[in-house]
Amino acid sequence: MNVVKASVCPLDCPDTCSLSVTVDGDRILAVRGSEANPYTRGVLCNKVTRYYPEFVHGEGRLRTPLKRIGAKGEGRFARISWEEALDVIHARFIEVIETHGAQAILPLNYAGPHGMLAYGSMDLRFFHKLGASLLERRPLCGGIRTEAYVGTFGATPGMPPEQLAEAKLIIIWGNNVTCSNLHFMPLINEAKKKGATLVVVDPRRVKVAQQADLHLPLRPGTDVILAWAVTAELERRGGLDEAFIAEHVHGFDAYMEQARALPLDEAARICGVPTADITRLAELYHALSPAAISVGNGLERNQNGGSGIRAIFALPALAGKFGVRGGGLVNGAGYAFAKTPARLQRPDLVPEGTRTLNIVDVGRHLLDETLAPPIKALFFYNHNPLIVHPDQNRMKQGLAREDLFTVGCDVVMTDSIAYADIVLPACSHFEHDEIFPAYGQQWLQRAEPVIPPVGESLPNTEIFRRLAACFGFDDAAFTADDAQLMDDAFDGSDERMQGHRPSRIPTDRALAMTYQGHEAVLFGNVFPATPSGKVELASGYLAEKYDALLPRYRPYEAPYALTLISPASDKRITSTFGGLKFSDETPPLDMHPDDAAARGLRDGMRVRVWNERGEVHLPLRITDAVRPGVVCSLKGAWLRTSDNGQTVSALAPGHHADISEGACYNDTRVEVALFPANGN
Ligand code: SF4
Repeated sequence: MNVVKASVCPLDCPDTCSLSVTVDGDRILAVRGSEANPYTRGVLCNKVTRYYPEFVHGEGRLRTPLKRIGAKGEGRFARISWEEALDVIHARFIEVIETHGAQAILPLNYAGPHGMLAYGSMDLRFFHKLGASLLERRPLCGGIRTEAYVGTFGATPGMPPEQLAEAKLIIIWGNNVTCSNLHFMPLINEAKKKGATLVVVDPRRVKVAQQADLHLPLRPGTDVILAWAVTAELERRGGLDEAFIAEHVHGFDAYMEQARALPLDEAARICGVPTADITRLAELYHALSPAAISVGNGLERNQNGGSGIRAIFALPALAGKFGVRGGGLVNGAGYAFAKTPARLQRPDLVPEGTRTLNIVDVGRHLLDETLAPPIKALFFYNHNPLIVHPDQNRMKQGLAREDLFTVGCDVVMTDSIAYADIVLPACSHFEHDEIFPAYGQQWLQRAEPVIPPVGESLPNTEIFRRLAACFGFDDAAFTADDAQLMDDAFDGSDERMQGHRPSRIPTDRALAMTYQGHEAVLFGNVFPATPSGKVELASGYLAEKYDALLPRYRPYEAPYALTLISPASDKRITSTFGGLKFSDETPPLDMHPDDAAARGLRDGMRVRVWNERGEVHLPLRITDAVRPGVVCSLKGAWLRTSDNGQTVSALAPGHHADISEGACYNDTRVEVALFPANGN
């Protein structure tokens, strides 16, 4: 008999939709949107409605623990019991600890599921107590924007996206909302119906740009120059709010010295946009209030990424756009929740002096014989590192090391799992209890399992509970059940919890995170949480961590003419769903007609795209939706889409951005020629 049950989408997406799942016994038949979350209002992306049942029940699903019987990467495994799998992990970890120390073990987890329990709870307690190397995982994506936000405003919530509907001006900067922030669209449409003006800044003419009153297709990596130019233009036309700046802005003089430094024409030349469009943007920003800005993740992925975001974040403070509904920044949602990570993850268990490795550098570290201690055991989960990390060929070499003991834990067989010595089958979020904050909206949700675990799969929390028991970790931190973990994840006494114990939040509705009973309005009912209590355009926090007191601009030099960007796909969430038959197609390479003509290329040709790190072969799609000098191929495709075992990640460089030591995917420079002709 079919039953409809409540759930929540756990994927790496800012929206965190509430779901209605139709279930027949132990099978999921259909996934639809539900009204439980008033922000997502019953609407889902079609990735989830189309692909989730196959993801949970399809051929690729991992149903039992496995041990490797073929070469690394070959994907040949034999079934084993949980007992054997945990015994092998215990024995191999002990061997590594006795020979090299516990820091030779590296947990490599990322953002597959976003529930608090699966994302980082019992797993982190286990690795902390073990004394394994710590992983700074945020730099792979989102960390740059987060650090720019914290450096400028502190850990305080920004505008909930619902307030977009009340804006008179909406600026969507580097955010392909129809693909990556779906629920913005009805709000943008509502605002437009009421007469709002829409501006889109993006190297591509993405769908939302087609509806924009003004589209600035700037060169990737030049956002800081554009934001400075708008600032300087605002100042020239008397658009700075001097009273607000005097009272609430720190570092104004030093910041403005940089913003004024370049003549407008020169800024326009660097950004590759008409001078008149920059003037027009400044004119609109001066004239219209409330004015809302949404900054996506695309613009952080370059060596000037943090600076670009900081310069955009400075605009509402300088122009006096805060303090009203619909004014300011749709950012900082993660700070709207009463999270208590110290209780959930127990960093107090970490032995003093334990090193922290940056996730962006893991491929390099795996091959670094001078690293002390070297990485001798790797445990990856919630993550498909081979597909997701920059410099894919180096990661592949690292994973192929015969002396590296590797555990892979996931819901489905992935390209990375093929390199594991021991494979652990994880439950999907439909099969365990979970609690969900969000990073793009301000509603807290809880979910219960809608089906029993598929096969012998286990929730991440139970896997690490069992591992902890193998190592003799038997204190209360390791015997806590999932309800206790949920209660550890949030402060139940905070006013935002409205008297709910976290583990008892009803599953048929979402809790609004409010302040004195109202949605957050920065400089209304919430304020900067910086050391000065002001908006810090010169940030002591960023100076101390990254030597980045102020934003700055450095051109990126590389011996290839084209910039390759690799934004999100409408078929996958990063690489999730990449193993399904719907994702079999090789993503095309989009190229502007001028760049194609200069290389004698025609639409539909197969081309080779290369640089010093690798080479991929893609079908060419000629379109003026990308600006000249930029080519685009969507991220997250699996190796099955490739004829040479490389995807676009193979071309991405391993250097770091200006803050957060973040990944610089959009600093990828390439050349393109007809395949298989020799284009070197
Ligand atoms: S991926 Fe995003 S838009 Fe799609 S269902 Fe999940 S949260 Fe909603």
